[in-house]
Amino acid sequence: MPQEQRMELKTIDQLSLAHKRVLIRVDFNVPLTPGQKASEQKVSDATRVREALPTIQHALAQGATVLLASHLGRPRGTVTPALSLKPVATLLQELLGRPVHLAPDCVGPAVQRQINQLSVGAVVMLENLRFHAEEEANDLAFSRALADLADIYVNDAFGSSHRSHASVVGVVQHFEDKGAGFLVRREVEALSSLLSAPDRPFVAILGGAKVSDKIGLIHSLLPRADAIIIGGAMAYTLLRAQGVKTGGSLVEPEKIGEARNVLQQAQQQGVGIHLPQDHIVTAEMRVGAATVATAGADIPDTQLGVDIGPHSIAAFRAVVQSARTILWNGPMGIFEMSPYDRGTRSIAEAVASLSSCFSVAGGGDTVAALSQAGLTDRISHISTGGGASLAFLESGDLPGLAALRS
Ligand code: AMP
Repeated sequence: MPQEQRMELKTIDQLSLAHKRVLIRVDFNVPLTPGQKASEQKVSDATRVREALPTIQHALAQGATVLLASHLGRPRGTVTPALSLKPVATLLQELLGRPVHLAPDCVGPAVQRQINQLSVGAVVMLENLRFHAEEEANDLAFSRALADLADIYVNDAFGSSHRSHASVVGVVQHFEDKGAGFLVRREVEALSSLLSAPDRPFVAILGGAKVSDKIGLIHSLLPRADAIIIGGAMAYTLLRAQGVKTGGSLVEPEKIGEARNVLQQAQQQGVGIHLPQDHIVTAEMRVGAATVATAGADIPDTQLGVDIGPHSIAAFRAVVQSARTILWNGPMGIFEMSPYDRGTRSIAEAVASLSSCFSVAGGGDTVAALSQAGLTDRISHISTGGGASLAFLESGDLPGLAALRS
C-alpha cells in the first residue's frame, strides 16, 4: 500500500465517539479449555482479548456505548452452544472491571431491544457472527442488519481483515464514520515498514508445511529482501526443484515447477535463497523414534525430514546475525514434537539475541514457538494475524482495510 493510502486510514482517535454507539469488530477467536460443558467453558489464552483492550477502553473513555462483534471457531451458520462468546464476555468483564452484557444474537429485534435499553458507557458482546451463514457470505441484508445497531464502525480485527466477510467488508459501506482500532493501526504500521523502507540487510525467514501458502510471499519479497531463509517442509519442494533427493518428506509435487521459477527469479534479482544443506531425518514419524542428521542435502528414500540439521542451523544463524530487519513466519521443523523443535528454537534464539534489529514474527506456530521459549518480548512486533499478515505482505492491502478507506 503506498504511503498516501496508508494515511487515508482513519483511526479511532480521529472519530467523535461521545454519546455514540460504536460497533467494534474484534478478533476474539480465542482457544477455549477443552472437555468442558458449554456452560463451564473458559478462555485458555486471553492474548487476543487483551490486545483489543486499548481500543475498547478508548471508546469508553470518550463516552461511547460499545458493541463488540466477533466470530469464534467454525459453527458454519448454525447456533452452536459450545462456540458461544459467553466465556469471552465473562473474561472481558473481569479485564475491564465493568459489566459486559452478552446479547442473545448478533442481529435482530431482540438485540435491538437490548441495545435500546442500554445507558451510555455500556458494553455489549454480540453473539458469534458465524452462527449466521450470511456472515461468511458477505450478505447484503445481514451487513445492513449489523450496521443498524450502531452509529460508528471500528475495525480492530486485523486477523480477520483478509476475509471479505459481512462484519469486515459488507457492513462498512453503511457507515459515514468509520476507522481502524489501535491494534489494526499497530499491525499496519509494523508490516508496512517492511514493505516501504526496511533497514538493510532485510532477512526473511520462512518455514512451515506448504510452499503453496508462501510462494506468493516469496515473490513479493524478492524486490525487497536481501536474503530469504527457508526451512520446514516447504524447503523440500524447493530442494526437489534443485534436483535434491527428499526421500519420504512432505513435498508438493505440483509446485516443483513454480518453485524452480521462483529460485531462478531470486538468482536474477541477486536475492540469496538459503535452503537447508542437512536435515534431521527419521524412518517413522512418532515420538521417541530414532533420528539422525544427514551428511548433506540429500535424504535417503527410507527417511523423511523432520527438522533442519546442525550445519543448516549454523548457516541460518550466521545470515540472521547480519540482519537489521527480520520477518519470520513458519517453523523450521515439526516443532510441536520434541526434539524436532531444535532448529526452530535455535532460530528463535538467534532472532531474539539481535539488539539493533527490527523484527516481526507472525503465524500461530511461530508465535507459539517464541512463547514456549520465553522470547516474545525480544521481538519488535508479534503479528496477531497469521493469514492476514501474509496476505498484507503479499499485496500491501487487505479487503477489510480497503473497505475502511472507501
Ligand atoms: P504452516 O501452518 O504452513 O506455518 O505450517 C506449520 C506446520 O508445519 C507445523 O505444524 C509443523 O509441524 C509443520 N512442519 C514444519 N516442518 C515440517 C516437516 N519437516 N515435515 C512435516 N511438517 C512440518
